[in-house]
Amino acid sequence: MKKMIAAIILMVAFASCSVSKDPQRKTARLLQKGKIKEDTSWVYHLPYKEGTSHLVIQGYFSRFSHKNRAAIDFKMRKGTEVYAARDGVVIRMVKHNNKGGWNRKYRQYANMIVIQHSDGTRAGYWHLKQDGAFVNVGDTVRTGELIGLSGKTGYSATPHLHFMVWKNTNGNWQQVPTRFLTKKGAKYLRPLRWYRNKQAPE
Ligand SMILES: [Zn+2]
Repeated sequence: MKKMIAAIILMVAFASCSVSKDPQRKTARLLQKGKIKEDTSWVYHLPYKEGTSHLVIQGYFSRFSHKNRAAIDFKMRKGTEVYAARDGVVIRMVKHNNKGGWNRKYRQYANMIVIQHSDGTRAGYWHLKQDGAFVNVGDTVRTGELIGLSGKTGYSATPHLHFMVWKNTNGNWQQVPTRFLTKKGAKYLRPLRWYRNKQAPE
């Protein structure tokens, strides 16, 4: 019952983001269930402070606003520190906005950081608070580096961090599901579960 209420609240609360044309929904499900064993994809770090936990409120291709999206929403109080999930170079940054809400008209007001990785993939960190970006276009960032503060700017009813990765395949940008380092190893995250950012021992 509690889980159902939470799911309903979250369904009402969330919407954002852009749509990918080829959602790879089935593949993502199999990956989440661990049914695809051979996986050499990059393992991302959770994009928040080491030792802290956050609830995944929407996972890949969930029924509500991520229907066609390979994106993850982490529930986060406004002003929560956001950390780079992977090394890269900042290629886009917006931080001046201060508006957000559950209406498409707010989409243009999203503050965000986009980081390009060495293999050409890009990660987006969305809905940051006003002035909640500590990096500039051209900056090199390292995994685990503090890059900003979460918020609810743009198309978002409640504070959260929307994280997504795109890959360019034959000229088309496509959102792709990614693995994250969790205390149980490299996992595809699932909705309504908590994940603690616990770094692997050196
Ligand atoms: Zn989202």
